[in-house]
Amino acid sequence: MEILKGIPVSPGVYIGEAFLLEGEEVRIPKRMVPPDRAEAEAARFEAAAGQVLAELDSLRGVTESQLGPNLAAILSVQTQLLRDPSLRERITNRVIKQHHSAEYAVARTLREVAKVMSASQSQLIKERSSDIIDLEKRLLKELLGEEGEDLEHLQRPVALVVHDLGPSQTAALDRNKIKAFATDAGGRTSHTSILARALQIPAVVGLETISTDITGGETIIIDGNRGIVILRPDDRTLARYKKLQVEFQEFEKSLIKDKDLPAVTQDGREVRVMANVEFPEEVLDAITNYGAAGVGLFRTEFLYLKSGVMPTEQDHFEAYKQSLLHLGGRPLVIRTFDLGADKIDPAYSVSEHNPFLGLRSIRVSMKRPENFRLQVRAILRASAQGKIRLLLPMISCIEELRWGRSTIEEIKGELRVRNERFDDEIEIGIMVEVPSAALQIRALARECDFLSIGTNDLIQYTLAVDRGNEHVAHLFTPAHPAILTLVKMIVDAGREFEVPVAMCGEMAGDPIYVPLLVGLGLTEVSVTPKLIPEVKTIVRSGTYERFKEIAGKVMGMDEVAEIADFLRDELDAVLPPGSKFGAGRS
Ligand code: PEP
Ligand code: MG
Repeated sequence: MEILKGIPVSPGVYIGEAFLLEGEEVRIPKRMVPPDRAEAEAARFEAAAGQVLAELDSLRGVTESQLGPNLAAILSVQTQLLRDPSLRERITNRVIKQHHSAEYAVARTLREVAKVMSASQSQLIKERSSDIIDLEKRLLKELLGEEGEDLEHLQRPVALVVHDLGPSQTAALDRNKIKAFATDAGGRTSHTSILARALQIPAVVGLETISTDITGGETIIIDGNRGIVILRPDDRTLARYKKLQVEFQEFEKSLIKDKDLPAVTQDGREVRVMANVEFPEEVLDAITNYGAAGVGLFRTEFLYLKSGVMPTEQDHFEAYKQSLLHLGGRPLVIRTFDLGADKIDPAYSVSEHNPFLGLRSIRVSMKRPENFRLQVRAILRASAQGKIRLLLPMISCIEELRWGRSTIEEIKGELRVRNERFDDEIEIGIMVEVPSAALQIRALARECDFLSIGTNDLIQYTLAVDRGNEHVAHLFTPAHPAILTLVKMIVDAGREFEVPVAMCGEMAGDPIYVPLLVGLGLTEVSVTPKLIPEVKTIVRSGTYERFKEIAGKVMGMDEVAEIADFLRDELDAVLPPGSKFGAGRS
């Protein structure tokens, strides 16, 4: 049994099979054989080893004639390793005594050796570990033949283990097969993590080494509440987690029971708790299963990232129409494409040293306005059918807002000529997620109809901490006084200019911050659908007066740990016993 600690990014507990997705997508389909087949299985390994040795010999001959003896000698390292009787014995022992499949025995043994070698002080030995991995791949290919499985052909539910996943890969995951995931890389607000929450599968990221710690096929526990991953759990641990899994399901059910009660503090202040969605299919679920008051953020770029095909105007229109239908009169905030950085636009990708500081979001729209114009046309047309607000992402200066507004006006003009109906009063808002926008918020607020605080980017840009980098994930926190000061500035500016302010960054769905945000004056938050019932419960559990006091105290604090501890204690005090579990919590 091995226990790994990472960053919990999507709540829930998964217990089942691990599926390792590697670069070359070689995997181990079966790991145990019946005892009476163990001898035959060992012979299968010996035969595969013989094949690989022959292959290596012939490769060595070709390499020697084409590239000379020195380079050919590199391949002899693998030959020597595979001829080593002690290594072969370790593998066959696993098959004969532990009844492991040949593939599993090869993978486990060679991974263990590679791990020891890569930890060596000697550079020479360290470098040899890649020969071991290479040898493992050759043997597995030989053993697996055509049986190797890839993601597309998976037939059963598994947890995906992979070094890193991109947002578009995550968006394309088949929810019926992939029930959880664990990655080496990533942070709590990376888009991959946000998608895991949208897909409602337990996920832990930032585990650093998990993709090399497993071979695939073993039993894995992924505890998305605590950020713990357990490989090859023993029976006691398995039993404990099965119990926890049931308790968590009960906890979720208990929250959902009150999902339709309004989020009103005990002294009567109402907070609108909306849903963040990436796909139109999520809207109905958010309303009926989680009690959303509307959609506060539709990350429309996923219409493209999921399929890899740029949506037409009609595709956009249909997606918005479908969403409005499900919303039944509730508001729909549509954000225009926020491509770039980690949400790579393969059609136009440019090579950048700092993609998060590069051609991203509204900057892409301004550089290549065709897609922006097409999308705005669709949004305006859909606005004739329901309550839509249009949100511009990543505004960093007033010129970008003015460009957005004037382009929207131009498109309205075109639609008038075409006699198309649209909401002429459509509200236009901006994401406040770049420090320059927060610092210039009073000027921006004067020219906006609403503001939406995007803390995921606001934190990364203010604190200089990459939101998806596991090595600095401990520094990524909404509890930094600089972030709280900016949030307060934005909320205060909204109040001054009577412009509604919402928050759609992940901070809004993190339970410990809910009392503070309400206390600072926020009346609208937009969170992952699954978190809505818990956020509403927290709002209902205290008074606005109490929340204001909490905010007042926090704004006088200077240290992250002091703030986070205080907020955690306050949450414990306001929530009734038994109504919290720690899911997705800071
Ligand atoms: C944010 O930055 O907080 C936000 C909501 O936008 P995204 O996570 O899509 O970048
Ligand atoms: Mg953002």
